Amino acid sequence: MDLYEHQARELLAGHGILVPRAEITDSPCEARAIARRLGGPAVVKAQVRAGGRGKAGGVRFAADPAEAELMTRRILGTDIKGHPVRTVMLAQPVDIEAEFYVAYVLDRTRGQFVAVLSTEGGTEIEEVAAARPEAVIRVPVDPTEGVTPAKAAGIVRAAGLPARAADVLVRLWQVLTREDALLVEVNPLALTAQGRLTALDAKVTLDDNARFRQTRWGERDAAHDDPLEASAAARGLTYVKLDGEVGVIGNGAGLVMSTLDVIAGCGARPANFLDIGGGASARVMSDGLSVVLSDPDVEAVLVNVFGGITACDAVAGGIVRALDAVRPTKPIVVRLDGNNAARGHAVLDDRAHPLVHRATTMDDAARRAAHLANTT
Ligand code: GDP
Ligand code: MN
Repeated sequence: MDLYEHQARELLAGHGILVPRAEITDSPCEARAIARRLGGPAVVKAQVRAGGRGKAGGVRFAADPAEAELMTRRILGTDIKGHPVRTVMLAQPVDIEAEFYVAYVLDRTRGQFVAVLSTEGGTEIEEVAAARPEAVIRVPVDPTEGVTPAKAAGIVRAAGLPARAADVLVRLWQVLTREDALLVEVNPLALTAQGRLTALDAKVTLDDNARFRQTRWGERDAAHDDPLEASAAARGLTYVKLDGEVGVIGNGAGLVMSTLDVIAGCGARPANFLDIGGGASARVMSDGLSVVLSDPDVEAVLVNVFGGITACDAVAGGIVRALDAVRPTKPIVVRLDGNNAARGHAVLDDRAHPLVHRATTMDDAARRAAHLANTT
């Protein structure tokens, strides 16, 4: 998962990398107070998970607290490259002598991390690499050795950065390995008028597979842009919001993807992707249905389960449980097949909920869900 700038800079600071003083807010009035605390002037920065915010108008310089309030008012609620701005960060401005680029990126072909450095930081590195490839240095890192001070000194020398950047490189490697990141990027790493190296911008992508051992993950999950995605993630569901009207729940990513196609083939559009996974329990089904039914865009839900490890009667039990907990107002078409399908059908028939429709095949289920979504 990609972190916001303010989260990424906290990680860097935690490993001893210098960052400017800064605070986040979603209120223009508070922005004024923050700027005052920072000493008056402030850089107002949109917190969106996209690069190139500067060029898109998402990074503005405020000369005093009143202007910080004004800039915050202007930036909040705008859209930066398709991302709505809900939060800004106000940072203490820094006098920049030079801007460098420093990153570790995963090279999947080599199966190794590569240090990427340039003395031409500030602008996007892809542009520098395209215009002047010789200005970008790439050095692979042996994962068993890591980045020692000696190794860092060599990389920094080869790239033409000041010698003291080696310390930043060593610390950045600690961020990468100890925080289980797949990418850490500082652009710009600024040389200040006072001769210090400060990370003015930070991008960190954490490895989702390491979630189990990163105890601070919970607080970062709040970073989900979509409240439904956040609630699904909190329940351990794989959910992606889409822009149609038919809610989709299935077991297994392949089945759910085919279901999206079949719905599209029926002239409707899926409202989401939700995979309850293999061996799903009644609780997982019930949680999934709760999430999908709380999406106001959903006009009908299609539950498509092919029971292998998953037992259809457990899934049906979850549906019944959700019916009692959520009290749906939209129709739910259920197709159950495979392991314990007959028992699953019996559970649904017992409940005889007026909004639950049983279908026997995937095509039939999709047709009915598409029809119900357009007529209710
Ligand atoms: P990005 O456009 O999303 O990469 O956002 P950045 O945080 O990198 O900001 C864009 C540019 O604004 C940077 O490359 C800097 O040149 C400039 N900038 C950011 N903070 C400061 C600051 O404190 N002082 C000065 N002078 N420039 C800054
Ligand atoms: Mn940047």
